[in-house]
Amino acid sequence: MTFYITTAIDYVNAAPHLGHAYEKIATDVLARFHRLRGEQVFFLTGTDEHGSKVQKTALHHNLDPKQFTDGIAEQFKACWQGLNIHPDRFIRTTDADHYALVSVLWQRLQAKGDIYKHRYEGLYCQGCETFLTTRDITEAGVCHIHQTAPEPVVEENYFFRLSRYKDALKAHIEANPRYILPAFRQQEVLNTLDDLDDISVSRSSVSWGIPVPGDASQTIYVWIDALSNYLTGVGQFNADGQFVSPWWPAACHVIGKDILRFHAIYWSCILMAADLPLPQHIFAHGFINLNDNKISKSLGNVVAPADVLAEFDLQAPDALRYYLMSMTAFGQDGNFTLDDFKTRVNADLANNLGNLLNRATSMTHKYFGGLVPAVEGPCPLSGFTPAETTAWLQGIDSAYNDFALQQAIELILSRVDAANKLINAKEPWTLFKNGELAELAIVMHAVLDTLRMVSVVISPVIPGLAAGIWQQLGYTTDLAQQQWSAKLPNDVLPAGQALPQPVPLFLRLDSAIAGADAKKQGVAP
Ligand SMILES: [Zn+2]
Repeated sequence: MTFYITTAIDYVNAAPHLGHAYEKIATDVLARFHRLRGEQVFFLTGTDEHGSKVQKTALHHNLDPKQFTDGIAEQFKACWQGLNIHPDRFIRTTDADHYALVSVLWQRLQAKGDIYKHRYEGLYCQGCETFLTTRDITEAGVCHIHQTAPEPVVEENYFFRLSRYKDALKAHIEANPRYILPAFRQQEVLNTLDDLDDISVSRSSVSWGIPVPGDASQTIYVWIDALSNYLTGVGQFNADGQFVSPWWPAACHVIGKDILRFHAIYWSCILMAADLPLPQHIFAHGFINLNDNKISKSLGNVVAPADVLAEFDLQAPDALRYYLMSMTAFGQDGNFTLDDFKTRVNADLANNLGNLLNRATSMTHKYFGGLVPAVEGPCPLSGFTPAETTAWLQGIDSAYNDFALQQAIELILSRVDAANKLINAKEPWTLFKNGELAELAIVMHAVLDTLRMVSVVISPVIPGLAAGIWQQLGYTTDLAQQQWSAKLPNDVLPAGQALPQPVPLFLRLDSAIAGADAKKQGVAP
């Protein structure tokens, strides 16, 4: 089974910020989950590098556009690396194989009669790099997004015959209720289908781009240039014009809600025109606001992911990954504040998960000489019986499969919480004092084995910390090589497995030595 997942490619006009990171982390989590479940996964991300804005910014820096984008693309790559995000390919729209694919795709659409030349008069916004429709202009006559007046421009451009595919797309969306996710976004797309015009897909005024085949006076505009990165990322057209790739169609395009229309409508119609199958899902995530304000360069409200980690002297990105994935339901907007970040990771990672690991491993040392105690038969403890464990794991699996990342995390943490409560209720110290060693062994084994399963199922979200748990349970194998199969509940911790000396998994963020300790544990990527 293959699972091809993509992010939007980021426009290289600015350095990566928290909003970019949110989408890439979520996609990395999904890629890691499907890999963990034994699927063949391809994860694509990258940068969108053409257009007049990039050209102007490069000029401003006295660089040619390619030199400029080389530098920014490296910044994006380094940022993802620092967040433990590992795409299978980082695509750039300036890559040679992308030029080749776009040219073939263009010719194919043109041969079908879906690209035609047309003189166009309209109001052009430099910021948007597009002609505005009445919907995009305020009553005062300025662009909704940029608050500047668009200029009247007359251009002869190539147009894509979007209108030809309107009915087919409508039928596809209606027949596939999970094509556009979350489901509440579907109607939004259907509503805009009725007043659909053909779209301009070239620019004569922009030289930094892929030339229109057969007409070097124009370059190909973003709709065909950028969106088709999803094809180049995993394949190429062969000499017979067939698109060859083991990965297409994609399982999911993960994108921001602001560009849903371009994916759900433009990209879908381009694919139909090219006789290529549509992706299984297009998932539109919400926006992360910063202190209740939109993250925006022009508003001066931008935070680099590395700055958040530096603020708390964190050497590893797990806390940030955890926070962004758990703070809001995937698909809804979220609000990032440093206070909330600190509160949540302290509560969940330090107090709940970290505390459970520390108690479990310390007590195993104290009562069983650091060796996993032997137990006979299935766990009889309420909340931890085999049937309950199976149901718990199935719930997490469905949540991940449904893109409900926050729900998956909540389910995982609910069991961590239950294990902490089990310790409080059973009082292992009392059992030990009273010599009830069989009962003590059952309790400790249930808690340790919960941590084993937790480390596996939470590893897509916090791979570094999960590997730390795995090691502290005495495993010498690499957690990243583990698979989450149906056998997961049965592969119980072997009796007699020796646990290393406990070390704190995650220290509270107000602790001055939080960073230093994380480094000592080797949880940095
Ligand atoms: Zn604008």
